[in-house]
Amino acid sequence: MRTIGVLGGMSWESSLEWYRLANQRVRDRLGGHSSAKIVLDSVDFAEIEAMQARGDWDAAGDLLADRARALESAGAELLVLCTNTMHLVADRIQDAVDIPFLHIADVTAEAVTRADLSAVGLLGTAFTMEQPFYRDRLAAHGIRTLVPDTDDRHAVHTIIYDELVHGEIREESRQRYREVIDRLVEQGAEGVILGCTEIELLVSADDSPVPVFPTTALHVQAAVDRALGED
Ligand code: GLU
Repeated sequence: MRTIGVLGGMSWESSLEWYRLANQRVRDRLGGHSSAKIVLDSVDFAEIEAMQARGDWDAAGDLLADRARALESAGAELLVLCTNTMHLVADRIQDAVDIPFLHIADVTAEAVTRADLSAVGLLGTAFTMEQPFYRDRLAAHGIRTLVPDTDDRHAVHTIIYDELVHGEIREESRQRYREVIDRLVEQGAEGVILGCTEIELLVSADDSPVPVFPTTALHVQAAVDRALGED
């Protein structure tokens, strides 16, 4: 089994889920007392959030590239970044290390393609929904992305930063997400990407009339299978 380098803390609520699911998958795959080989570098999310707010993606890229190098030095043989948003600086992180980097949007796109879908709704932070880095990555896999309208994007973003990253799960927010999903489906979405690693703490397949693609779970699945020697 290869050691997975986990670049987390964005937020720690979702990294905790990543860690739990990864260990669970290794146990399910190998049985006995098996668990995942992981080195974790968990950043202070306040620093990252401040850089996002002022649009200082260079500083964020430098910080995460530095932490990625630290993970490689600590023995990581495969690297994951446990946030969709910060994949905005994925190239910088990837360039900083020699180990393979498992891009969360590629893993998600592969799941969408396996489900035989080509038009999906995307829920995530405003950065993920509005900037081209994520949509373009999906488009490279032949997937068309639909995003919510301005009001719905604002609600989806605010619930992430004001509630989910603090571990707050509220029924009224789940209901708000359901409404956003329904509108995406009306626009033609055949599936919905939960493109922020905390969203699956709030909504699941039960909240959607079309298949959902939970990025934390999909990322874990791909990383563990790669660590165990499969793609
Ligand atoms: N975890 C979130 C994501 O997947 C948002 C937090 C962040 O900005 O990194 O995009």
